[in-house]
This record gives sequence, structure tokens and C-alpha cells, in this order.
Amino acid sequence: MRMGFHWKPSYNVKRVLESVNDGQDTQVFKYASCPDCGAVVTQPDSDGGDHPISLELANVVLSDNHCKCTHCGSQLWTLIRKEQRPNP
Ligand SMILES: [Zn+2]
Repeated sequence: MRMGFHWKPSYNVKRVLESVNDGQDTQVFKYASCPDCGAVVTQPDSDGGDHPISLELANVVLSDNHCKCTHCGSQLWTLIRKEQRPNP
């Protein structure tokens, strides 16, 4: 449920190089990160640890909830004007 004002997710995109296929290949993963401290946005997983979530999932999660950076506490959303229109 949305609150009574307009807002949108606010985050930076962080590219992380990770090894895949038992280290034989590397692949670039994109994660949402905190605009203030750069910490990758994570979510608790079923095994109790925090894991980075994909950019696609972050977009969904951050669009539905007002999230805060788990590292520095900065808000990962920003208010937007209701009457805001795209520039021509
Ligand atoms: Zn942060």
C-alpha cells in the first residue's frame, strides 16, 4: 500500500565482478547500492545471512517499501512532486 505522497526509489547502480562456473568465468552483476555510502542493498535470506539482491528485485522491493541503508541508515527513496512532468 502506497502512502499519501509520491516517492520513488533512490539508489545507485553498483557493478560487481563475480566468478561463476567454479571460477572459470567472470560475470558482471548489477546491484542496487546506497547513494550515500555505496553499500550494496541486501535482504535477509532463509539461511540467516544478508545477501545482495539483483537490480531488478531491488527495484521491486524499493518501490513497494521505504527502505533504509543497513550500513549507514540513509533512506533509499526520495520524494517527488505530484505534478512533476517529464521535460519535453
Ligand atoms: Zn548507506
